[in-house]
Amino acid sequence: MTVAAHTLEVVNPATEKPIAKLERAGVEETDRAVAAAKAAYPAWRAVKPADSARLLRRLASKIEEHGEELARLETANVGKPIGDSRWEMGMVGDVFHFYSGAVEKHYGETIPVAGGVDMTFREPLGVVGLIVPWNFPLMLAAWKLGPALACGNTVVLKPAELTPLTALRFAELALESGLPEGVLNVVVGPGSVVGERLIAHPDVAKIGFTGSTEVGRRVMEGAAATVKRVTLELGGKSANVIFADADLEKAAASAPSAVFGNAGQDCCARSRIFVERSVYDRFLKLLVDATSRFRVGNPEDANTEMGPLISADHRNQVAAFVEGTPLFRGAAPAGPGFWFPPTLVEASNRDRVAREEVFGPVAAVIPFADEAEAVRLANDTPYGLSGSIWTRDSARALRMARAIDAGVLSVNSNSSVRVTTPFGGVKQSGFGRELGMHAMDGYSEVKNVYISTEG
Ligand code: NAD
Repeated sequence: MTVAAHTLEVVNPATEKPIAKLERAGVEETDRAVAAAKAAYPAWRAVKPADSARLLRRLASKIEEHGEELARLETANVGKPIGDSRWEMGMVGDVFHFYSGAVEKHYGETIPVAGGVDMTFREPLGVVGLIVPWNFPLMLAAWKLGPALACGNTVVLKPAELTPLTALRFAELALESGLPEGVLNVVVGPGSVVGERLIAHPDVAKIGFTGSTEVGRRVMEGAAATVKRVTLELGGKSANVIFADADLEKAAASAPSAVFGNAGQDCCARSRIFVERSVYDRFLKLLVDATSRFRVGNPEDANTEMGPLISADHRNQVAAFVEGTPLFRGAAPAGPGFWFPPTLVEASNRDRVAREEVFGPVAAVIPFADEAEAVRLANDTPYGLSGSIWTRDSARALRMARAIDAGVLSVNSNSSVRVTTPFGGVKQSGFGRELGMHAMDGYSEVKNVYISTEG
């Protein structure tokens, strides 16, 4: 069936079947959403802190009540395993609980000065535009919505066209939970139209962006015309560094989920696995064994660990990274669905597969000689988002953690994300921090007021 240019067909990547049809928004709809957010702003910023905290708490509870429904919708739209979707929706609820508490705890200061009193206020920015990708659609939106709303801003959210469904349902639930009309607006349309309009719009004070480094550059460039604030959460090429003295069994058991989780479509994917040469062969055996047991298949099955890729186009891009015979290729269903098997390749840090973000289930395994070489290789990348260090030597763990250029690191763990701790990148992985109280700085501006007490 022919789909008109203004109609957007949303597809389940595990079945290739359409699951929704939507009207595509354009510039006019974006302008209307910005106008609605602008109209709602004065009343929203004037809500008593205890009342906006209560509203965000109710929203968090509403999300919890609808957690299973949202998780199923996310799984149908992204193809991610239902267990992952349930975890993500749990985090969405937790994010709103956290930021409901933050409303009344984001203080200004009083500063000693001569001749009077000096104080700072945390002022909201106004209307903020939030642009998010398709890999963790509602969770990444929540990381921005929580602090943006808690600081007193109103919002226009643009989900990725491939995955708009949970954002739309979230907006309905937000209204039902009592969030005033116009405070949160969702616009579904192409980045080149809706995204560009948000970036250019004179009434939008800030763009909170998560996506590719390429589009992030464009956001920064476009924002210059109106001197908009920007937060950029971009791509990554994170290192998983395994020293000979580490718990190799534990490191190998968790390495597959650290790079094949979400089918590798994860900005934090530890897609460069660096292994100390003296244990390289032993670790490789353990890694291949763990990868061969990684469960790929029906995303609706609670035991599944990896689903399909997001689209046929994306699968072609991922496939182009695997040249020659890989070290190991796991199993994946034949189709329908955009399947790609978990794949390990032996590489040098100079190879394309080790330099560019694959955004698929492909890991480069690379040996290193010693600590100095591990640091050099880990940092030899334009990116700096996350990474892991596996060692039983705590002094070395700390040295490595300080030496690796990344915004988020873990030792003897592959976790990157917690509601209460700051998340974000350095170098071409972007700037600004999400989550925890640090995110409140990105959605507010410090105002200084001096009052003379001289007679
Ligand atoms: P993308 O950059 O193609 O798109 C992201 C969003 O930007 C989408 O909503 C898209 O419609 C919009 N967009 C596209 N062109 C635009 C333009 N010219 N102006 C304004 N908006 C525009 O990214 P993607 O393919 O959806 O997602 C994958 C990328 O996201 C990967 O690079 C991944 O590393 C990155 N990512 C980063 C983080 C992080 O926190 N650092 C988290 C998740 C994903």
